[in-house]
This record gives sequence, structure tokens and C-alpha cells, in this order.
Amino acid sequence: MLARSVSKGGYLGSWGFSEGEPRTSGRGVVDFYRRTHVAPFAKTTTRADVRGSPGIRLLRQRRRFALPSLFHEDFLLSSASPERIAIIGSGLAGLTAACTLAARGYAVTVFEQSSWLGGKAAVLREVGFRFDMGPTILTVPSTLRRIFTEAGKQMEDYITLIKLDPQWRCFFDDGSALDLVADENAMADNLEQYAPGTGTAAGYKQFLTLSDRLHTISDRYFFWKSIGGIADMIDIKAGFSPSIISDVFKMRMGRSVAGTVRKYIPDARVAQMIDHFTQYVGSAPDASPAVLCGIAHMQTSEGVWYPVGGTRAVPEALVKLARELGVEFRTNTGISKIIMDDAGQKATAVQTESGEIVPVAAVVSNADSVRTHRELLNGTAARAKAKFEKRRKYEPACSGVVLYLGLNKAYDHLLHHGFVFSKDPEAEFHAIYHEGKPAPDPTCYVAATARTEPGTAPAGGEAMYVLVHTPYLRPGQDWKVMFPDYRQVILNKLKTTGQMPDIEERIVFERSLTPQDIHDRYRVLDGAIYGIASHGKWIGAFKPANRSPDIKGLYLAGGAAHPGPGMPMVMMSGWIAADVLDRDEAAPRIRPRMNEQAGAPSSRTTA
Ligand SMILES: Cc1cc2nc3c(=O)[nH]c(=O)nc-3n(C[C@H](O)[C@H](O)[C@H](O)COP(=O)(O)OP(=O)(O)OC[C@H]3O[C@@H](n4cnc5c(N)ncnc54)[C@H](O)[C@@H]3O)c2cc1C
Repeated sequence: MLARSVSKGGYLGSWGFSEGEPRTSGRGVVDFYRRTHVAPFAKTTTRADVRGSPGIRLLRQRRRFALPSLFHEDFLLSSASPERIAIIGSGLAGLTAACTLAARGYAVTVFEQSSWLGGKAAVLREVGFRFDMGPTILTVPSTLRRIFTEAGKQMEDYITLIKLDPQWRCFFDDGSALDLVADENAMADNLEQYAPGTGTAAGYKQFLTLSDRLHTISDRYFFWKSIGGIADMIDIKAGFSPSIISDVFKMRMGRSVAGTVRKYIPDARVAQMIDHFTQYVGSAPDASPAVLCGIAHMQTSEGVWYPVGGTRAVPEALVKLARELGVEFRTNTGISKIIMDDAGQKATAVQTESGEIVPVAAVVSNADSVRTHRELLNGTAARAKAKFEKRRKYEPACSGVVLYLGLNKAYDHLLHHGFVFSKDPEAEFHAIYHEGKPAPDPTCYVAATARTEPGTAPAGGEAMYVLVHTPYLRPGQDWKVMFPDYRQVILNKLKTTGQMPDIEERIVFERSLTPQDIHDRYRVLDGAIYGIASHGKWIGAFKPANRSPDIKGLYLAGGAAHPGPGMPMVMMSGWIAADVLDRDEAAPRIRPRMNEQAGAPSSRTTA
């Protein structure tokens, strides 16, 4: 047996993660950048310098017409040029925005406070085990494909995806198990065997028809555009048509996910399984708007995919593309301020935590949107910040505890993705979302990655990832104190409902993340995994728009911006932020767009 690596206090942040590969995370990149481009300029730049000069306008005009040497242009612009676009944060949304903007001919610099690129899509490699640290379930791969198409590239040249079907195996408290399969008819057959004579199979088909409709409506009005509220969904210039009114009614506004699911699905266990699609957005099924029932169809229609190399392969592929497109990365460089012009209306520069001021043409913030306003605009854009706060209440989505368990045994009854369900979902969600306490009997999501990629664990072993949703951080909650007991609650659940009675003895390596770690590592809102909660049966689906309505030249991308969290949605968010920036001509283009033919995307195209 390998030595167990859990030490007192060692559950938390400071143990040796290997989240980024050396080529993306090193000082080398930063040092090279500083040596060649930044230092001389940065030391002498002041706020007054960056407020726009006539010379900059002239330079912009010249650049539009004279593009003799792309390399030469890139080189000139890399000297902290005010023509660059700053992206704050290298999460999947930030990387997508970077690739999209660079493919459309803009000069882009990504500032990342961590030593690695990819944000939550980090990796942990130790003693022969490899774990994805954050996201593990990849859906709607057409969104990822879209980014490569935009750059005139083939996604397959950067990443290999394997389709997983069955998509999840679900374990229930009564000892039963149910597989979720993509094909609607095959799933209905499964359900007829699982809950015979209850009408669940027929109800599931009707539910998927509704889900398909809601997905279509989302695609028509909600996806791929900057939306901050219902008014943004309707093209006023095009006028109202009866079909819009009919679509708004079909959204079942004012109804919840939980209520809608139960209208169709009589079997309580199957309803619990379908409720869990709202856990992709870290929100309570009874408080989330029914339109989120569309997530089920997004998953069944495009499937669940595993990137070879783990989810980490997604940011790696995007970083590779971004580098090819000339994007500059500055790791270990947190941004402390977005600087505005004299009128306080336009973003003109960013200030790093070391005090360097970098003038830019526009800013895409991939940092949490609420923290962007409360921290990065604090003192620089008071009116805009006040407007943002007045618009709505920003409730964080749920947080979570993650266990990374290196096991010396592989469990054959598991599939790649599994859910070990709580006995009583109402009590579970009430604890997490209404009382703000960890659920005493939680649902555990389990990834057994070696099922698909044996190299993630030593032979015969398993790199098991266990995620349990918890409340976002509440005052007085100290996870250093709370963690050991809750770890035991989780292991007990895996031993019983998860049917792994010997799991505790099988652990040869262990690491963990608590809500406090998530908060500190990723700079999120109160430890939230999925940005802002989708609570509110009427407007719960809306997040801050990607184009700031309050500040010119500021764009928001990520799980706490439209259209919300999860890998496909944040990549869409990054794409929208880039697209509206481009439409606004918020920065000068330094070379022609890569692929004029990319066309308007749809989340309904096949992978
Ligand atoms: C444990 C866990 C499990 C998950 N499981 C899934 C799943 O199975 N499927 C799925 O689709 N999604 C899942 N998610 C959600 C998914 O990971 C996120 O929605 C998505 O990765 C967020 O991407 P992002 O671009 O919004 O932000 P992030 O990944 O949070 O990136 C933001 C980046 O900004 C940087 N940053 C913040 N502030 C600053 C600053 N001031 N200066 C410079 N840099 C800054 C941060 O360091 C970070 O790198 C999971 C998340 C977690 C944590």
C-alpha cells in the first residue's frame, strides 16, 4: 500500500497540486514577457497617460489599412499597447474569449492570478493517479467545436472526445440502480422495467418533448447573445409576433423545475434523478425556473463526452489554439483594478496587483462578475457599481466538498459517471439551499475515470473523484473544523448506498477541496462553484449580461455571467463576450478575421 498522504491540516489548499503543465504555468512565460515587452513601459505609465491620446486614434486608423507583416504587428502590439484587449482570468470562458477575439484579428493578453491556465478545470497528478480537480462531465461539445471552427481549425486536431453512454449510473437508497441512457426509447424501456406500470416511461418521453421545446426556445432567444433580462431576449425592432408570445408562455415562467418534473414523472427516484440536472447550475430544483428543464434535452441530444487526458484536455486544447493565434498569457498576475476614463464611463486600463498599469482598448472580465464590480471597479466606477448592485440580488450558487481518492481497487459496478443519491431529496436540498447547512444525508457524484482511461490510476486501482454539493460559505462556517466529520459522512454514504463497503480501507492516496479552498483558489463568490444561483421562478435564469450596460469597453464572461455556469455555458459566455466586443468595435483589429465563414452558431448542431 502506498503511504496515505492525508496529514493534519493537509486536507486544505497548500499541498502540491500539479494543476497546469509546466509550459503554461511557469515563471518562464512571465519572465519572458516582462523582459521583452512590459517592464520599460509599465514602470513609466501613469493613469493620465492611458486616458486616450490623439496619437492612439491615428495609430488605430493606420493599423486598419496597413498590415504588411502580422508578426511585426504582433510584436509592436505586445508592448503593453493600448490597442490590446485585456482578459482577466483564464477560465474556460476567458480562454474562449481569447481564442475568439484573436481569431477575429484582435491583440489579446490574458492576465491570470494563478500559476496555471484553465481556472477550475485544473488537474491533480500524484503517485500514479491523475484527477480532474473541477469539471468532469462534458456536454454540448458543439460549443467547444465552435471555437476551433471560428479559427478555421478542426477540433479533432486538438482534442479527442469519447462518447459515454450510459451517461450516468444512479444508486438509490433502496438498493436499486438505474442507468441514464441517451436514446429516448431505450431509456423509456429501462424505466418500464425499473418502475413498471407507473406511467414513468411514458412520462419521461413527454418530459423530454417539453425539454426539447425549452431547449429550442433557449436557443432562439437566450443563447449566443448578450442577455441580462427578458427585454434583451426580444428584438424590439423586429416587433412582437404571436410566436414570441406563444414561446414566452411555453417557457412555463413562474413554475419550478421540481414541480414540472413531478408533473410528468410519477416515480420519486426517477424524479430525483431528473431534478439533478439543476445541480449542473448549483441551484435548488424547487426554486429554479422550469426553463432549466431544457438541460435534460441538451444532454440527451448531444451526449456526454470524455476528453482523452481528462477534462484538463479542454483548457490545454484552448491554450494551444490561443498561442497559435498569438494570444499572450501572463500567469501569476492578478488584476486589482479596472481603470476608467475621466468621465468614469469607459474602461481604459487594468492595474495588476503589483501596481503595474496596463492600458488597453477593452476588458473582458472572466473573474466572478459580482467580485469584478465589488472589487475591481471599487473606487474607480462607483456609479456603475451601484447600478449593478441595484439591478438584482446576487445569490451565490452552491459550493462543494471534493474528495480525490486514489484507490488500490477498481469497483466493477461503477460506470465512469455515477450518482449515489440521498434518501430524501427535499430534506437534502432544504439543508443546502434554504438552511445553509451541509446535508446530513448527501448525494455524492462519483467519477471513476479509470473505467474509460485506465492510465489515470495504477493497474487495478481507481482515481475516484467524489463531489458533494454544500451551501456556499456562510459566516461562522470553518471548514477546517467541519471537514473531518463531513468527510466521514461522505465515506459512509459511499459504503452504504454506493455499495462500496470496503472503500475506506482501499484509500492509498487522498486529497480534498472544501468550500473555503474553492473560494481561495478560484476567487469565486463565497465559495460558489457555479457562479450565481438560478433561483427565482420568473427571472432565475438571467445573469449579468456579457456586455456591461454600465461601462463602455467592459465585457463579462464566465459562470457568473450570461448564460451561466458549466463548461458549455461558460464557453458560450466567452464567445458572446468576444462577439459583442467585436460588434461594438471596442478595439482596433490588427489583422483580418481568420474564418469569415464561421457563421452563426447553434447549440443544436451535432457534435
Ligand atoms: C468541483 C467542481 C466540479 C464541477 N463539475 C462540473 C462538471 O462536471 N461539468 C461542468 O460542465 N461544469 C462543472 N463545474 C463548473 C465549471 O467548472 C465552471 O462553470 C467553469 O469551469 C467555470 O469557468 P469560468 O471561465 O467561468 O471560471 P473559472 O474556471 O473560475 O476561471 C476564472 C479564472 O479567473 C481567475 N481570476 C479571478 N480573479 C482574478 C483577478 N482579479 N485577476 C486575475 N485572474 C483572476 C481565476 O484564478 C480563474 O483562473 C464544476 C466546478 C467545480 C469547482
